Amino acid sequence: MSRIAFDNSYARLPPRFFASVEPTAVSAPRLVKLNEALATELGLDPAWLSSPQGVATLAGNSLVEGAMPIATAYAGHQFGGFNPQLGDGRAILLGEVVDRAGRRRDIQLKGAGPTPFSRRGDGRAALGPVLREYIVGEAMAALGIPTTRALAAVRTGDWVRRERMLPGAILTRVAASHIRIGTFQFFAARGDVEGLRVLADHAIARHYPDCAGSDAPYLCLLEAVIAAQAALVGQWLLIGFIHGVMNTDNMSIAGETIDYGPCAFMDSYDAGTVFSSIDEHGRYAYGNQSAIARWNLTRLAEALLPLLAEDVDQAIPIAQAALDRFEPLFQSGLVAGFRRKLGLATEEPEDIELIRTLLETMQRGKADFTLTFRRLSQDATSLADGEACRHLFANPAEFDGWESRWRQRLEKDTLSAEARRAAMRAVNPLFIPRNHRIEAVIRAAEERDDLAPFEELLSVLAKPYEEQPGRESYALPPAAHERVLATFCGT
Ligand code: AMP
Ligand code: MG
Ligand code: MG
Repeated sequence: MSRIAFDNSYARLPPRFFASVEPTAVSAPRLVKLNEALATELGLDPAWLSSPQGVATLAGNSLVEGAMPIATAYAGHQFGGFNPQLGDGRAILLGEVVDRAGRRRDIQLKGAGPTPFSRRGDGRAALGPVLREYIVGEAMAALGIPTTRALAAVRTGDWVRRERMLPGAILTRVAASHIRIGTFQFFAARGDVEGLRVLADHAIARHYPDCAGSDAPYLCLLEAVIAAQAALVGQWLLIGFIHGVMNTDNMSIAGETIDYGPCAFMDSYDAGTVFSSIDEHGRYAYGNQSAIARWNLTRLAEALLPLLAEDVDQAIPIAQAALDRFEPLFQSGLVAGFRRKLGLATEEPEDIELIRTLLETMQRGKADFTLTFRRLSQDATSLADGEACRHLFANPAEFDGWESRWRQRLEKDTLSAEARRAAMRAVNPLFIPRNHRIEAVIRAAEERDDLAPFEELLSVLAKPYEEQPGRESYALPPAAHERVLATFCGT
């Protein structure tokens, strides 16, 4: 019996969609972490996955029966410049499984060795970025945000050369699919309309099956992706997440957060926050993410033009009308989310101004984004001296002015104080994957082979909305000397 019941729909697409390529064996595979709950959800046996045979599979040293390893082809705009030929340069898709809930999920090894798309890269990943992707992806899942998942991390026993030599690792990534905006651009750039149609039909069947019965299935697909990404980016903003590399090859058609490179959560609120060391011009800053999502979706619409109408002149206004829905969808999702964060069950015209003023006050007062909302959701009398929300602000008097306006607004609302606090705590996390914590976890793993901090951080982040006695320090922003100013990409 096969250990993984693969059913590989992408590998059945025409050969020009991918390159068949096997993982390259590594020296000494060692399991760092297995996500047992996710394994079970996928119908896999955690005991087998952590056995030597299972670990060899997760390291790419052994291929399970039924796997059809491929690297998928895609293109993409990277920092605004188009590259017609990217593709999985270090990720190898083993295949797909249908999980216990009936959902089709990709199982991919990231860092499994070179592929025909590696260009000058080595096909490998370093331990640090693998741990980062594991932590942040799992934290996003626990926060309730659509995301790819981490099934496992293994060390390879080999070194990878970056700015310095680093221990190598492989992440087993699970995704609704790995189809990106850039996958559509790949076929569009080649004038391969037939390929485009096959891909669109595949994406519809897999992610948006309701579109199959539509009069205009490809427009329906475009609209569905626009809606999914508008909602996703709204959710990012509501928890202070900065993706860091919103290139079109890193935007999933399924609407999941994918490709955690130089991503980070904001500590003190500043809409201009950028973490990626290569994002010199702030293209992917926190406050720019919706504009970039729309820009990326415009590239998707362009790629889909040949499927939207007989000729381009007809197709353009159709695509334009679909794109025009992005901003209202994004804004309404964002405002609804901020209303929930502020405990407002009803809608008043003044709410937008109330939200905007809070954000401006936070920006001027350098207040911690996550803790501001969390403390607003706590009963003021339950907070110790010094823990009041106002102490998060360098401009406490300005915050006081805002707070009294908020309290007046609450009087018009329908929820009881207790119900409101519970509702607010359910949407305002206490624990987010703060960058300084992630860096400390990576240092312990790299320098001392100590994975205890990684395990502890994962366990805290699994329950982001719950108080966890004894773990209060995980909620705190970095002290001045702990602050991390940049995260580095591509490793
Ligand atoms: P990313 O910025 O992580 O989205 O990667 C952009 C492109 O570079 C993708 O096509 C990756 O597959 C490729 N890539 C990144 N790192 C490597 C590497 N170490 N070896 C080969 N290809 C890579
Ligand atoms: Mg990528
Ligand atoms: Mg990446």
